[in-house]
Amino acid sequence: MNITDVKSDPSFTFDATAYDTIVVGAGFAGAVAARELAERKGSRVAVIERRPHIAGNTYDHLDKQGVLIHEYGPHIYHTVHERVHNYLSRFTEWRDYRHEVLAFIRGEYIPVPFNLNSIEMTYDAEKAAKLNDLLVSTFGIGTKVPIIDLRKQDEPLLKELAEYVYENVFLYYTQKQWDLTPEQIDPAVTARVPVLVDRDNRYFTDTFQGMPQDGYLSLFENLLDFPGIDVFVNLDARSLMSFEQSGDGESYQAILINGRRFEGTVIYTGALDDLTGEAFGLLPYRSIDFEYDYYDTKRVQPCGTVNFTVSEDYTRTTEYTWLTGQDIEVTTVAREYSSAFTDPATQTPYYPIFSGENQAYYDRYRDLFKDLPNFHPLGRLAEYRYYNMDQIVLRALELIDELV
Ligand code: FAD
Ligand code: UDP
Repeated sequence: MNITDVKSDPSFTFDATAYDTIVVGAGFAGAVAARELAERKGSRVAVIERRPHIAGNTYDHLDKQGVLIHEYGPHIYHTVHERVHNYLSRFTEWRDYRHEVLAFIRGEYIPVPFNLNSIEMTYDAEKAAKLNDLLVSTFGIGTKVPIIDLRKQDEPLLKELAEYVYENVFLYYTQKQWDLTPEQIDPAVTARVPVLVDRDNRYFTDTFQGMPQDGYLSLFENLLDFPGIDVFVNLDARSLMSFEQSGDGESYQAILINGRRFEGTVIYTGALDDLTGEAFGLLPYRSIDFEYDYYDTKRVQPCGTVNFTVSEDYTRTTEYTWLTGQDIEVTTVAREYSSAFTDPATQTPYYPIFSGENQAYYDRYRDLFKDLPNFHPLGRLAEYRYYNMDQIVLRALELIDELV
């Protein structure tokens, strides 16, 4: 891979004339787009990344005790898209891993998504059998029922179950994560973790799931290793990219790189508000702080992730060796604290807060770029969408289908 660390070269200047494509951001959106344009179109691509490393939010590295951790939160790969899986399989082998999550509820570890096994661990045998029969006869085995829908059931026993799950799995966790109740956030958010009418304890039910055998960084090194791709790290696109405004100031008319018009393709995977100097103010995001506990023993948790749904001020803890399969005598556990995103200088925008109002706010930013046919916002930040990794890979592949 051809990579330049801009910080280590004080005389560095970016020469835009050497490229027909500039990709901002080296996460999944940017790296897949860069590779596809170089491989399918023969493009000369500069990938500009402001962090000191590639791989975006999936970046992994060894911590101070040699445990492989994910710097920006635990990332578990899962997809139903065969195209995505076949594509990524060109760049990594997979470790067979099925992610399980247990909710810690008053001293008990209960499987989440809440399922038929969870019910048997929560209620006495007679009541559990009644509830499970009722769930199966009402919805059918294998069904995923969003908690918001379960709460709409009139049948008294189902209603009681729905209230229990709402109170003990969703309410406090959602308040910690979003500073909102489950009713106040978009229903699609809690529907990511439905009540499962099944005995499958896995967190995801997708056809393909696992972890990159040698980690995400290695996957990205393979992805970006192609003739025509140059990667620049520690380089902020805002230091070289600006825009020519229309007379009425309502949209941008041209992309400027170091003050000169750039007529090539720009794929931008950062946040639009950030790129415009927050022209209309900060878009609403949630941020996360990760705090680590280091242990001198092999394993401390019963599974990869424990969700704290009725206690603690952090949302979840993840023990990385479960995810990576690393065989080591010590272990590291990350605690996640969610907070409002208010200071771009010190915080990372992790989760767009999706709502009709925020979409309209985002659309104001999107409209600034509407007259630039060569500017393509792509990715979780640039599109202000709660996308998983595989959805981003698919979007990048489909965008390049259009461009090639
Ligand atoms: P990113 O990975 O954020 O990449 C964008 C890149 O652009 C960043 O590296 C950033 O530094 C760079 N950039 C921004 N602005 C500039 C600029 N001005 N100049 C230069 N570079 C810039 N998905 C799953 O499928 N499974 C999971 O288990 C999972 N877990 C997650 C856990 C957490 C805590 C979070 C927050 C997300 C999780 N996701 C998960 C979602 C996943 O992180 C995203 O889908 C994916 O990272 C999106 O890729 P991206 O390229 O759009 O964005
Ligand atoms: N959620 C919850 N309790 C749980 C798990 C999830 O309330 O034990 C809700 C919460 O609102 C969360 C959303 O469901 O933000 C989506 O959960 P997911 O695990 O998909 O979140 P992510 O991994 O993207 O942070």
